[in-house]
Amino acid sequence: MKTLVYIDHFKGEIQPASWEALGLGKSLGSLSAIVFGSDLDAITKAAFEYGADEVLAADDAGLADFRVEPYASTLSAIASSRSPDLILFPTTTRTRELAAMIAVDLNTGVLTDVSALEVIGNEVIATRPIYEGKLIEKAVCSGKPVIATIRARAFPKPEADGSKSGTATKVEVKSDALTEVTGYSTSESAVNLGDAGVIVSGGRGVSNNPSLQPPAGMDEKQAELWRAQQGFALITDLANVLGGAIGASRAAVDAGYIPYSHQVGQTGKVVTPDLYIACGISGAIQHLVGMRNAKLVVAINKDSDAPIFKQARYGVVGDLFQIVPALTEAFRKKLGK
Ligand SMILES: Cc1cc2nc3c(=O)[nH]c(=O)nc-3n(C[C@H](O)[C@H](O)[C@H](O)COP(=O)(O)OP(=O)(O)OC[C@H]3O[C@@H](n4cnc5c(N)ncnc54)[C@H](O)[C@@H]3O)c2cc1C
Repeated sequence: MKTLVYIDHFKGEIQPASWEALGLGKSLGSLSAIVFGSDLDAITKAAFEYGADEVLAADDAGLADFRVEPYASTLSAIASSRSPDLILFPTTTRTRELAAMIAVDLNTGVLTDVSALEVIGNEVIATRPIYEGKLIEKAVCSGKPVIATIRARAFPKPEADGSKSGTATKVEVKSDALTEVTGYSTSESAVNLGDAGVIVSGGRGVSNNPSLQPPAGMDEKQAELWRAQQGFALITDLANVLGGAIGASRAAVDAGYIPYSHQVGQTGKVVTPDLYIACGISGAIQHLVGMRNAKLVVAINKDSDAPIFKQARYGVVGDLFQIVPALTEAFRKKLGK
């Protein structure tokens, strides 16, 4: 099988699932990586180290910022001239748009958010969650090439081999951009829950510590937010000790405790960490669909009947304001931090 893998990055910061896509492509046969942007030497070198036989580099100042029009035209032209059987992307906001646009150009379809993939004869069969993860379907694409975006952390990341190199080919850039990037501002999307190996999440319970006395003069809502800040500070400490990211339930987000970019669930992010620690989260179905594919779930909740305990391998019935700092301390000692 002839596979092209698109390496997604933002200003040189690679989406780790790009390497997972390379590992998958390598297991299927001949493999070319595609990199777009400006000053691509470091990314090209890394692509070889992670297994690419060839790197097709569209290295042009005009591609320094992601804009879907020139990226899609350039990628469609590469695909038309190379005739791959399969084009793989890591699933990101950028690649969902890019994959859809090239599928239109190439008159084929896109299989998004693929969590497993097998090739039988010439047919590529993709497994992916549907209906918010309630069902798993197997799907094929009748068009050629097959285009698929893979879910982060669903496929193993290959070992990098620093001694590896290959053929780097410069490709022509099609620059029919209708838009220009005039600047950036820091956004909430800086939180990357999708790639996190450990997530510590807080829910409405993080504000429930009546013994914490807020500073004088606060009204009820201000006092609630202040308590939530103290609660999320404990969650952050634990996440930092474990090298993890911070998640949240929608109730915590809606109440203003933490920005939306941290929300896990049906209307937030779907995550697949090795470890998910849910603190003060009841375990509503809309939350569970976002985290039930975590390898190990630990729940901390005052209510022994909370549904989250059905999802958890380990549960602690108790007050998170006592349990979370105790866990942080224990991990700090254990990990020597
Ligand atoms: C269309 C739709 C989409 C939705 N999408 C999402 C989504 O993406 N993500 C999401 O999370 N929800 C989503 N929801 C909301 C969801 O239904 C729940 O309302 C929400 O998940 C509840 O959040 P929670 O568990 O933090 O709060 P609660 O349900 O209020 O639970 C708080 C928990 O904290 C425990 N607790 C309280 N104090 C402490 C303490 N000191 N120590 C330990 N435990 C304590 C309580 O026992 C309780 O179990 C959605 C709802 C709808 C209708």
